[in-house]
Amino acid sequence: MKDIFIAKHLSIFIGATILSVQNSYLCNRMSLHQYPSTLLENAVQEFSKLPGIGRKTALRLVLYLLRQDVDDVEAFGNAVVSLKKEVKYCRICHNISDTEVCHICNNLSRDGSIICVVENIKDVMAVENTQQFGGLYHVLGGIISPMDGIGPNDLEIESLVERVKAGNIREIILALSTTMEGDTTNFYIFRKLASYDVKITTIARGVSIGDELEYADEITLGRSILNRTNFTDSFKIN
Ligand SMILES: [Zn+2]
Repeated sequence: MKDIFIAKHLSIFIGATILSVQNSYLCNRMSLHQYPSTLLENAVQEFSKLPGIGRKTALRLVLYLLRQDVDDVEAFGNAVVSLKKEVKYCRICHNISDTEVCHICNNLSRDGSIICVVENIKDVMAVENTQQFGGLYHVLGGIISPMDGIGPNDLEIESLVERVKAGNIREIILALSTTMEGDTTNFYIFRKLASYDVKITTIARGVSIGDELEYADEITLGRSILNRTNFTDSFKIN
């Protein structure tokens, strides 16, 4: 009799627990996927398309915008739309620009005989921030990546060959990622430019500043030994 009593109460307890878990799951689903307004839902949907932004962060950003003045929100929206509609790309180096030829290509104090080839606009900014390069750039718009369906014809490689063909180019610096795709692109460009009288270099690859040798991988350390420099060059700024 006592056993039957315990079994009965145990089954009621288990049943209640399952119902409670189901309810909390349903509540969570509702709070994640249901919004009190379609406008809010649409805005969250658009924000969550941005890289690194999940739906929770998107909702936070949208609610923040909702609390701002109309003028501020309009300025935000207009800046995004204008960026897409009005931005130009330099017809020489393909860097982002407000004018047909960018301020770097237009700068006569820069050395027009050296071109640094980079993957994208962010890389131009990265090299510029070093304040160590006084030449011009060429933005490829990506690197050769068969896995992503990106071939040489999808990139600004022919226009680089045209720049070299036009003359007055003394050196091409290949400053691409040190990945297999980067190396493939380097080699493709090297082959394309092999028949022209131009020096082709790559950025140095080796142990990073501040790194301890024992933590450097074998390939990086091996390259550093092969590409060793004169000690007096190691502390030169230019
Ligand atoms: Zn330019």
